[in-house]
Amino acid sequence: MKFPDLFDRFISYVKIDTRSEHDSKSFPSTAVQFNLAHKLVIELNEIGLTGVNVNEYGYVSALLTTNQKKKMPVIALIAHMDTSPDVSGRGVRPVVHYDYDGADISVNHELKLAVKDNPILKEKKGKTIITTDGTTLLGADDKAGIAEIMSALNFLVKNPEYPRPDIRVLFTPDEEIGRGTDKITIEEIGADYGYTVDGGNLGEIEDETFCADSVDINIRGINVHPGYAKGKMINAIKIAARIIETLPKDTGAPENSDNRDGYIHPNQLHAGVEEAQIQFLIRDFEEDALYERERLISEIVDKVKDEYRGAEISMAVKESYRNMKQVLDDHPVVIEKAEQAIMEAGLTPVRKGIRGGTDGARLSFMGLPTPNLFTGGNNVHSRLEWIALEDMEKAAEVILRLMKGWTE
Ligand SMILES: [Zn+2]
Repeated sequence: MKFPDLFDRFISYVKIDTRSEHDSKSFPSTAVQFNLAHKLVIELNEIGLTGVNVNEYGYVSALLTTNQKKKMPVIALIAHMDTSPDVSGRGVRPVVHYDYDGADISVNHELKLAVKDNPILKEKKGKTIITTDGTTLLGADDKAGIAEIMSALNFLVKNPEYPRPDIRVLFTPDEEIGRGTDKITIEEIGADYGYTVDGGNLGEIEDETFCADSVDINIRGINVHPGYAKGKMINAIKIAARIIETLPKDTGAPENSDNRDGYIHPNQLHAGVEEAQIQFLIRDFEEDALYERERLISEIVDKVKDEYRGAEISMAVKESYRNMKQVLDDHPVVIEKAEQAIMEAGLTPVRKGIRGGTDGARLSFMGLPTPNLFTGGNNVHSRLEWIALEDMEKAAEVILRLMKGWTE
């Protein structure tokens, strides 16, 4: 399938700076996200959707009504407009490499996209590769997802015979700072099932996320003038160091785990002689294993308490989010339809777990089962981000076949 509008849409979206910002108190976190939101409103109207709207928080929504007579579920297609605050997204100048020859790609005079570091490149010979000029990220995360949804919608309107359910479109702000679903309700989305189009390589469906908690440790020591501290001082800094030092070293940390391994991650440390706080992030795909890691911290705390009598050490666990598979397992049809669409597009479905959370995970627990579909994007949040145009076309094709699948 060809999507003649896809390339231009994608290039025009990535040129708009939509970086979100962690420290911002406003919603959306940056006003620039409205620049893309307003452009999408114009284009959704041009394509011919109804109920096109951007609200005060920057959420863009629209409806494409079904062309079927029978009753069927309403499906939401979701992508995020912001780009990661980690890398500059201002003045993105995409570079197009036509008929890719399979060799390393010089992004600029100092940055190289090497095949040995990016083995997926080997599969892309002959394709149209889009990179940055090496000074910014590309923003395929997630403007590829937006462009793919837009081109699929354009196709559906131009081909009114092609079967489709009621489709709710939602473009969200602030996903990269974890607030993408903060100002939206399931009622507003108005769908039975959803798909975020925000994933990676061809054929991937992400139906799992970490289970995530944070653990705050508060340490109260005893401060005395160091000249006269003998037998009196209990240094909270040393207690904090002792707790961290006692953690397992060769496993169970972000720096030595991948795939389905979880971890304990000391994320913040504030320490003085009198008081210290440690924040740990705990991650695991299985909830039991998550609790096991928390028990380990609790044991370490007890042990260190014994070593430093007179100090107070408390521990508080806060839930962050849970593996969306817990929800998706109750609605197997959502994944089945996606796998079927991917196979019909001539690809092999690859189920993957996300070593993080997603808007889809939050939406799933809010009541809208929402796995994540591939966009074709690679090396996200990086100046070496890249995507192949033909992979984006495949993603748009999968969206179409998926919509058709829901009418069957
Ligand atoms: Zn994303």
